[in-house]
Amino acid sequence: MSLLSVRDLNMHFPVKEGILLRAQKFNRAVDGVSFDIQPGETLGLVGESGCGKSTLGRCISRLYRPTSGSIEFEGQDITNLKGKALMPFRQDIQMIFQDPMESLNSRHTVGDILAEPFVVQKIGDKQSRAKRVAELLDIVGLPARSASRYPFEFSGGQRQRIGIARAIALNPKLVICDEPVSALDVSIQSQILNLLVDLQKEFNLAYLFIAHDLAVVKHISDRIAIMYLGRIVEESIGDRIYREPKHPYTKSLISAIPIADPHQKAQRQVLTGDVPSPINPPSGCRFHPRCPQVMDQCKFESPNLRLMDERRIACHLEDG
Ligand code: SF4
Repeated sequence: MSLLSVRDLNMHFPVKEGILLRAQKFNRAVDGVSFDIQPGETLGLVGESGCGKSTLGRCISRLYRPTSGSIEFEGQDITNLKGKALMPFRQDIQMIFQDPMESLNSRHTVGDILAEPFVVQKIGDKQSRAKRVAELLDIVGLPARSASRYPFEFSGGQRQRIGIARAIALNPKLVICDEPVSALDVSIQSQILNLLVDLQKEFNLAYLFIAHDLAVVKHISDRIAIMYLGRIVEESIGDRIYREPKHPYTKSLISAIPIADPHQKAQRQVLTGDVPSPINPPSGCRFHPRCPQVMDQCKFESPNLRLMDERRIACHLEDG
């Protein structure tokens, strides 16, 4: 049994227009997404800004209630759970956000912020919570005295450590990491990634690691899924997606990764145009207006995400 099973998930936000503010259109931010995550595994989810990957993360953590489809956690359907019924899963599924400054309450001390999950879940007393806060700070590499300080007194990397400490406070099984290093300097990024890898080994955490940059997820992911305009277009195990990208969109993302070797010539495939609007997505293959290998068929026929040779690809070039 998978830790997480997502099937045909849709998150369509109504777009209200006109004097009566009636929803005539829908923003199809997530549109028919299916995937699994196993215990202790990391699935990297990559796509450009606006492709729906953060919305997908918020659906799984049930910050959003999906429009349709299903989310199963350890075999239990949590798609439509509310209130008290959702509480145990709030413990098991946690989130780390891109901007720790926004996600941490600046008026509370770090000690109060880290104790809050225990207060909400009614776990322990003041003394046991203070002890656990000190343990959490130690786990993420911050001194115990940090508990009495406020988030603005820390650097960006230190604040992200506090965000991570809060996410692991209740011993979750799945952590949704929503661009957790995108706002940090490159040197700090690797420290945070290493911390996440160490925590995964120590606590058998599973991660859904969301990023807009394929280079960031390379060393942390067991599998990588590429998302374009609300849908997964390619998914593959290990580093195969870097060695043998199949989907034209994946190829363009790979070609954008800087090459360290100055003697190796980069063959960058620059995509033309912006990501189309998910309110009015292109017909057929959603990538067709930007695809360098577009065929007539692509303009009216949507490719299915098909399993082939241990990878999933949605592209008519692979129809055989
Ligand atoms: Fe390009 Fe057609 Fe494949 Fe879409 S289906 S990625 S337009 S070749």
